[in-house]
This record gives sequence, structure tokens and C-alpha cells, in this order.
Amino acid sequence: MANFSFLSDAGWRLPPFCIRYSAGLGSLELAELTHVQALLMVLLVFMLMQLIQYGVKLLRFRPYIKMLQRQQPAYYAALPPHLRRRFERRVADFVLRKTFISRGRHFKVTLAMEVSIAAAAVQLTFGLAPVFLSHFSKILVYPDRYYSTISKRYHCGEVNMRGYIVLSWKDFESGYRNGTDGFNLGLHEMAHALHFENIIQNNEYGFLDSAHLQQWNELAAHEMQLRQQKPEGFLRLQACHDEHEFFAVSTESFFERPHHFSQHHPDLYQALATLLQQDPARQVYQV
Ligand SMILES: [Zn+2]
Repeated sequence: MANFSFLSDAGWRLPPFCIRYSAGLGSLELAELTHVQALLMVLLVFMLMQLIQYGVKLLRFRPYIKMLQRQQPAYYAALPPHLRRRFERRVADFVLRKTFISRGRHFKVTLAMEVSIAAAAVQLTFGLAPVFLSHFSKILVYPDRYYSTISKRYHCGEVNMRGYIVLSWKDFESGYRNGTDGFNLGLHEMAHALHFENIIQNNEYGFLDSAHLQQWNELAAHEMQLRQQKPEGFLRLQACHDEHEFFAVSTESFFERPHHFSQHHPDLYQALATLLQQDPARQVYQV
């Protein structure tokens, strides 16, 4: 029977990181670990535990992740099998990194809801190297629209620079129920978070290609200027509020009605496809 002892044969106590291993039938090896080796060992054990924990959580998510097919028929279901698996892993990763907070009486954010919300973020960022909007560590979910004491109005969602993404679950759901109308709260708010995340000084700073972003910004500014003279257009008027709204509203149409978008604004569509490294109109999800 194997056992571990911290005492030497002579009864002297070994230094803290000396481990004696005895294996029952003689030929006992005394492994005296240096501090560096001991540290590496602790690190290895820690990493193994994390890996096991992650695997267990991944298994727990599985049934919910399979529900994505129903919730995102136009995107997830269109992915080839190997990309679906990658998508699922990113969704699980996203959920594990966020704290979901239920707001409102008798309302509880379920794991299925967490998976759906994470999927919106992953859909948006899927073409890029993994990015998890790390500044926005908390996701607040209300059952319905909520009253903002700051704007004195009811909101269906917002991104707060203190690290919150806020969503009305009712509006989030209806965004995916009709997947071709260019209205999608989840994509809209995640797009705001993505836009900000790129300029926040943290481990994910500057993940968008600066030349591609510059090209997008120039085209967006031009379109916003045109819309001031002629308010009717393909993108709803909310887009013309500022560059952030333009990006968020464009993202909704980019995924929900990509063919119409590319017909109405081929340059804008192409610039967004290049920026996000995916092209839904051609069913290319990772360039
Ligand atoms: Zn917005």
C-alpha cells in the first residue's frame, strides 16, 4: 500500500517540500523535491483539478447546449459539425466566466437561459480568436423591461461600463423567435459590449484588427451623414444615434438578414464581415 511520509529514516523532519514515497515491498525511492519542483507539482495538481472541474461542468451543460439548435436555427444549425463543437465549447467557456444575476420577484435565470445568452455573444465573436468580453463579468437578467432611475424610462437592455450587461429576458427571447427581422436584443447588447471591450485596457484590449476597424468606422460615418439628409434607409433610425448604435444595429441585420444587408449596403456589409471575420450571407462562419 502506498503511503506518504514527511519523516526521514533517521526520524529527522525533512524540509517542507521533501516527500518520501514507500511502495510496500522494498526498493523505496526517496524523492527530495526542490522548491521549484514542488511548486510545479502543486501547479500541475491545481491545473488537473481545474480541468476535471471544467469537464464536469461541460457535461452538465451538454443537454442545454443541444437546445441551441432550436433557439438559434439560422446560425447554430447551419454550422458544420466540427464548428458546432467549437461553438459549444465557447458557449460553455462564456457561461463559466460570467456571473448571471436574476432580477425581479419570482424570476430565476436558469442554466438554459445562461446558455442562450452566452450563445448570442459567441455568435457575434465566433469568427475571431476566442474573446469573452472579460470586462463585462456580470450579466443581469430581468423578466421583462425594467425601469431605469437614471433615464426615467423603461429599458429592454443596456451595457454598463461598470462591468454589467443588462437584458430583459422577454425581449431577448423575442429577438430569436423572429430571426429574420433585424431586431435582436441579445446581439445588440453583445455588440455594444464588444465595441467597448476592444478599447478597454485589459487582457482583451485591441482584439479587433485596427485597419479593418478604421475601414468600418469611415464607412459607418459616411452612412450616418447620408441618413441625416435622407432619414429612410435599410438600417432603422436608431443606428444613426452614434457610432456605437450604428455598430450594434448593423450587427443585428448582419446576422438576421445578411442577404438584404449585402444588397443594400455591399461595402458596409463587406467591411463588417471583414471586421468580424465571418460572412453569414455566404455561410462562412470562421474565415
Ligand atoms: Zn444600443
